[in-house]
Amino acid sequence: MTENGRFGIHGGQYIPETLMNAVIELEEAYNRYKDDPEFNRELTDLFNQYAGRPSRLYYAERMSEDLGGAKIYLKREDLNHTGAHKINNVLGQALLAKKMGKTRLIAETGAGQHGVATATAAALFGMKCVVFMGEEDTRRQALNVYKMKLLGAEVIPVTTGTATLKDAVSQAMREWTSRISDTHYCLGSVMGPHPFPTIVRDFQAVISKEIREQILEAEGKLPAAVIACVGGGSNAIGSFYHFIDDSEVKLIGCEAAGRGIDTFETAATINTGRLGIFHGMKSYFCQDAYGQIAPVYSISAGLDYPGIGPEHAYLHDIGRAEYVPVTDEEAVDAFEYVSRTEGIIPAIESAHALAYAMKYAPTLAKDQSIVVTVSGRGDKDCVSVARYRGEEISE
Ligand SMILES: *Cc1c(COP(=O)(O)O)cnc(C)c1O
Repeated sequence: MTENGRFGIHGGQYIPETLMNAVIELEEAYNRYKDDPEFNRELTDLFNQYAGRPSRLYYAERMSEDLGGAKIYLKREDLNHTGAHKINNVLGQALLAKKMGKTRLIAETGAGQHGVATATAAALFGMKCVVFMGEEDTRRQALNVYKMKLLGAEVIPVTTGTATLKDAVSQAMREWTSRISDTHYCLGSVMGPHPFPTIVRDFQAVISKEIREQILEAEGKLPAAVIACVGGGSNAIGSFYHFIDDSEVKLIGCEAAGRGIDTFETAATINTGRLGIFHGMKSYFCQDAYGQIAPVYSISAGLDYPGIGPEHAYLHDIGRAEYVPVTDEEAVDAFEYVSRTEGIIPAIESAHALAYAMKYAPTLAKDQSIVVTVSGRGDKDCVSVARYRGEEISE
């Protein structure tokens, strides 16, 4: 990273004056605690005792033999408490908020996964929790709304704009502005104004720290590639981070192409977006001809954010990481293939990374390995994948 929360030309703090105090307070607190041994001991304890870390690095032998080529290892973030990588970030931010004397967490959520994770951390820390969720999404994701309430959170439907994720982010930022005394905004991915992209990256970097140790133990050398899906980009940057200086390790982010990058129904930001400023950061965004944020689409609710974190935009600019589009169809095929070949039902988000790995592994030699991050488990996606295949199931 370069100075002042910039990643090359990306990142920064494009925010109203009224939000400045909140981000300055957060940055100061983070600088104070990030290398504090006591803070890190407490966080490691939460990771290990509560979230179930370290997560396994599993050699997918049947998949590897069936596809031919490189050995495929799966980083099993799906085995974490709450079933995805999001818990890493929320535990870190909740602990930081507690150290800052905050008693209330607010969060945005799209499909509800980050809202549920934040409500979980708030319950654990005995904090109040308010989650902003587009009204449209509260209808589509009724089960997650129920879970958040069960965990003690209040869910506020957002009716502005398209009443989806981007509007929930905007509403959470407004709420934070008006109430910084007792409230921490627990942002869900490596996006937003500095210092969020750095904070969230650091908490998710535990993924690549573990992968490095585990793959060296298993193979005695680094992998040829690390592959992860990209929504805002937190599981991907977490998976990449400790390999950025190892130029022999290819870093591959898989974007949701939806129905294809030549259609309007896509969420592939690097492949179809342009430079812009939104939600407090400079980065790449899906935009219409007038520079307005474009509506995005993917079968995967966790990947349909119209932007990408600034560090990914930078890694793309300098050619250190590659961002490839994966369609709904390819992801659904991988969802089904990995389920029946390995007995692992991956999140539909993670299935985007697995789909690309299925094409990529056969191009490599048998003595090479690749690591694919399974960012979450796929129980939540069974109804929509069944519907995609023309089958209606009721719960
Ligand atoms: C939220 C989510 C994602 C996308 O978020 P990133 O910040 O890009 O990691 C990916 N996979 C799962 C399982 C998720 O819940």
